[in-house]
Amino acid sequence: MPFTFQSRLPATGTSIFSTMSALAKAHQAINLGQGFPEFDPPKALIDSIHEYLKKGLNQYAPSIGLLSLREAIASKLEVFNKTRFDPEQEITVTSGATEALFDAILAFCKQGDEVLIIEPAYDSYTPAVLIAGARPVYYRLPEPDFHFDAWEFRKLISPKTKAILLNNPMNPCGKVWTKSDLDQIEQIVLEHNLLLICDEVYEHIYFEQAFNSMLTYPRLKGHVISVSSFGKTFNNTGWKLGYAVAEAALMAEFRKVHQFVTFSSFTAAQAALADQLADHSWYDALRSMYLSKRNVLIEAFRTHDRELKPSEGTYFQLLGMPSNALGDLEFAEKLVKEAGVAVIPLSPFYHDAYDPKLLRLCFAKSDDTLKEGARRLCQTLG
Ligand code: PMP
Ligand code: GLN
Repeated sequence: MPFTFQSRLPATGTSIFSTMSALAKAHQAINLGQGFPEFDPPKALIDSIHEYLKKGLNQYAPSIGLLSLREAIASKLEVFNKTRFDPEQEITVTSGATEALFDAILAFCKQGDEVLIIEPAYDSYTPAVLIAGARPVYYRLPEPDFHFDAWEFRKLISPKTKAILLNNPMNPCGKVWTKSDLDQIEQIVLEHNLLLICDEVYEHIYFEQAFNSMLTYPRLKGHVISVSSFGKTFNNTGWKLGYAVAEAALMAEFRKVHQFVTFSSFTAAQAALADQLADHSWYDALRSMYLSKRNVLIEAFRTHDRELKPSEGTYFQLLGMPSNALGDLEFAEKLVKEAGVAVIPLSPFYHDAYDPKLLRLCFAKSDDTLKEGARRLCQTLG
């Protein structure tokens, strides 16, 4: 008799990112779907990881991360956020942002708690909340501009609300939250004594609208955990390294979970990243490069008579699909087969499969790939 079990995640299937990448491969399509850069990490970073591997950094790192990397993160925070966090007690290196988000949710949310998720939401949030035994409560940002309505948002808060998950800059819609949006979030967090779990993995990819980290709000110290990912910043998503920052008491609790989810992360890569972080010029160059790529993509659509509302941040751009077309999942499948371009439909970012008839394009690709992708999409869209 087969083993019987009750799924903790009965509604969860294969992620849309894996699905679309597999489809792109099967049809040899241009992959503007899953978010990963088509270009290499900095050469110095690759050289230095080789060196550290040869020097023998092949055993476990300390659970909280190499001190050199935590110190480098602390000084980056001082330079870019003008805030001081203690590398001994307030910074932990994790195996990517996904792990850090999972640890934070598991550490602080439990049965009986409600967690506010802002949609369209990154796909790992809901499963993590459900595994923690808490209840996700959803607030949908209204398109086309995805503006935040604090009045509507407040209606969802109950005595059970424990935490808010905030992604800024925001995947998939490319929103960068304004200072006034964030001030309202601060007010809500303080009024209701909540935890704010901030997914700031695209912190260095923003354009006309300035990015403000929630770590820069002094009154929120003790209420915020911020999560970052090196993968987005240094073109090495496959290394799966990131980190979390929070005030000491929160971080101590976070570390208890981290210790038993992964214990520690890839040692040589941490040492190499510690060296890389000393180069503060990287971030401006990264932002300029992505601004240029976003513009190349928009211009390519314009030459085919399609005007797109420019993404404010992340390396994602939205594209509208015909409102009378198929559902977005079927439409995305059709585009892979007929246009030879993989994109990401938006409905998987909504708990109720709401379909705003929008597609996400990743522009972390060569200019030629972007131009050819736009040409093919426009030809099929008509
Ligand atoms: N949050 C968001 C919004 C993301 O887009 C991603 C990944 N691309 C992650 C978290 C996960 O980051 P990592 O690969 O470092 O786990
Ligand atoms: N975050 C990436 C994206 O949004 C995908 C990461 C993954 O495949 N899990 O495309």
